[in-house]
Amino acid sequence: MKRFKSFVNSWFLIEMLKGLAVTGRYLFARKITVQFPEERTPLSPRFRGLHALRRYPNGEERCIACKLCEAVCPAMAITIESEQRSDGSRRTTRYDIDLSKCIFCGFCEESCPVDSIVETNIFDYHGEKHSDLYYTKPMLLAIGDKYEAQIALDRTKDAPYR
Ligand code: SF4
Ligand code: SF4
Repeated sequence: MKRFKSFVNSWFLIEMLKGLAVTGRYLFARKITVQFPEERTPLSPRFRGLHALRRYPNGEERCIACKLCEAVCPAMAITIESEQRSDGSRRTTRYDIDLSKCIFCGFCEESCPVDSIVETNIFDYHGEKHSDLYYTKPMLLAIGDKYEAQIALDRTKDAPYR
């Protein structure tokens, strides 16, 4: 009986017709293709994308060079060097992230006591060679400056899905 059913299925191309039925169903279904980058799909405010270093509203860097993010990073992607300023505060002289190592776990962001290193919702960046994905302190600060409004909004409890 099993062999007979198999023979009938093969003879009448039942499996192929089933496949074509699926194709036909989706042919007339509502299209979900988005025209990226003009159109974008919704993103969670907790999305972990490109990193940024933030400043306080007075322009001062938030980072206090505690190196917690460097210590917690499982990929050892962060390199920090620091020095003491004349006013006694400690600040980084070097803050690099090698994004070719980063696994976007978010540990650096979670470990930061002053909300300095953050992960933005930017995902459409690329590099054609290793050095393109090596982000230095000025680059990270520039990203923070440019997207501060969105970064701040994503950290409120009312952060909307976009
Ligand atoms: S997201 Fe994770 S892997 Fe990437 S730099 Fe931060 S701690 Fe390291
Ligand atoms: S970014 Fe945050 S955790 Fe990392 S060194 Fe600066 S203050 Fe410390």
